[in-house]
Amino acid sequence: METKPRNPVWSRDELILALDLYVRTRGNPTGEDFEAVDEVSAILNKMHRIMGNATGETLRNRNGVYLKVMNFRSSDPHYLDQGKVGMERGNKLEGVIWREYAGDPVKLATDAQAIRATILAADDAALSQHPLEPPYEGEEGGVILAMHKHYERDRKLVREKLKAAKAEGPLVCEVCAFDFEAAYGKLGAGYIEVHHVKPVHTLKPGSKVKLSDLALLCANCHRMVHRTRTLNELSLLINMRNTLVGKPAWSG
Ligand SMILES: [Zn+2]
Ligand SMILES: [Zn+2]
Repeated sequence: METKPRNPVWSRDELILALDLYVRTRGNPTGEDFEAVDEVSAILNKMHRIMGNATGETLRNRNGVYLKVMNFRSSDPHYLDQGKVGMERGNKLEGVIWREYAGDPVKLATDAQAIRATILAADDAALSQHPLEPPYEGEEGGVILAMHKHYERDRKLVREKLKAAKAEGPLVCEVCAFDFEAAYGKLGAGYIEVHHVKPVHTLKPGSKVKLSDLALLCANCHRMVHRTRTLNELSLLINMRNTLVGKPAWSG
């Protein structure tokens, strides 16, 4: 008997887009026709292509997206209050996403738009050849973070950024002034991490990344900036820490 390969489980990004569709269509995504469902289906298929996942006829097709959106009925009190029974329960993550966003429609719309814009702006042809790398294990961020790292790994851009920075002086972290060479000697010479500052969902398709869109950070600050998401927030944290515990030893 022939067994079809199973489609991957729905990721957080995908469920956010599905819940957004559920809310936008008031839990009835086929009210007019399948246009909105097909739009989400196309976006999700592009996402799987640029992430390097196998795609096929059944992957996030009209039927699959429709059923997943309808699954949210089993979490929806409005729907359940009418005495109706939701469709078969989906996976655990659906309930998590529902609880996270049910009381915050603005955040849902904002996050869904950021995911959608990131996927739409991604260069389909180029990324199908060299797909995005998945984020570190346990790191959240999905397609937005993968796209962000893709820009940070642009060798040509990184080389240009380092060249420009070296012409100005020693390579130090822009947030905490950590100097890899000062700390590790020869081993650390020329080492620094490149962080892409502009939110990827604000980039237009085909737009060029400028050197000013990149910041040079030590590995610690880079990890932390991904937790706080903006560079200014991190500078704030560093300033606060400096006033509390004094200047770090390496900042001279
Ligand atoms: Zn740093
Ligand atoms: Zn980064």
